[in-house]
Amino acid sequence: MKFISFASGSSGNCYYLNAEGCSIIIDLGLGIRTFKKTYKDYGCSFGDIQGILVTHNHTDHTKAVGYLSNEFHIPVYTTEAVHEGMRKNPFLSKKIRPQELKIITHLSPFQIGPFTITAFPVPHDSYGNNGYIIRYKDVVFCLITDIGHITPEIGEAVSKSTHLVVESNYDHQMLETGPYPMRLKKRIEGPYGHLSNAETAQLLANYLSPELIQRVWLCHLSEENNKPELASQTCLSALQNLPKLNHIIPQPLPRRQPTGVIELLCEC
Ligand SMILES: [Zn+2]
Ligand SMILES: [Zn+2]
Repeated sequence: MKFISFASGSSGNCYYLNAEGCSIIIDLGLGIRTFKKTYKDYGCSFGDIQGILVTHNHTDHTKAVGYLSNEFHIPVYTTEAVHEGMRKNPFLSKKIRPQELKIITHLSPFQIGPFTITAFPVPHDSYGNNGYIIRYKDVVFCLITDIGHITPEIGEAVSKSTHLVVESNYDHQMLETGPYPMRLKKRIEGPYGHLSNAETAQLLANYLSPELIQRVWLCHLSEENNKPELASQTCLSALQNLPKLNHIIPQPLPRRQPTGVIELLCEC
């Protein structure tokens, strides 16, 4: 199973998984031209994409979903509320055609090619938001982004993961002393905003399963209120005190550059 992060952060999010000739895209908040060029540069085929999963209706996650779906006739999977949000989102000029709308329900597994996918609810200031657990053979890939606080469902998903992508949006002190207006600061640190480095570190320390977890990536880092080394150091410090988890080194995903192809293997 292969994983690429094409972009991660408020300037655009896009993740890619591939196994047995089947590809899925999770979120597409980049410009369509940038995405298509990068995708081709990696030698990936558009014909392999069997589904687009959408976490929620914020434009940094949905900007080019309609373009890609329309051009290559790709079904788009998300909750009814996210579909409705995308229909009404004035920043999405290209709408998804009715025949490509796939409505999913939280905690009801569904299949795309060889992947078994379960969406679960996450708290954020939009409607019908999803985290995703994507299973292929022994790999349990979990993606959790744009979450305001930790819920039991999030903890459970983290505890099942062999490979985890989780938000580590801001450093509390940088946000407090940074240039954002007070209202925006309150939104980000509120229960339906984003997760701080310290909260992510706590989530990892409390819920990762030492016998399952192989790799952890930190996503959606703020450009103004965070630094990659600060995010990874905060999470690393929390794990270093735990003898069974101190070999895990959480890696920040770059905001604008793709990661390169990462092989996901399970030795659990
Ligand atoms: Zn976002
Ligand atoms: Zn969001």
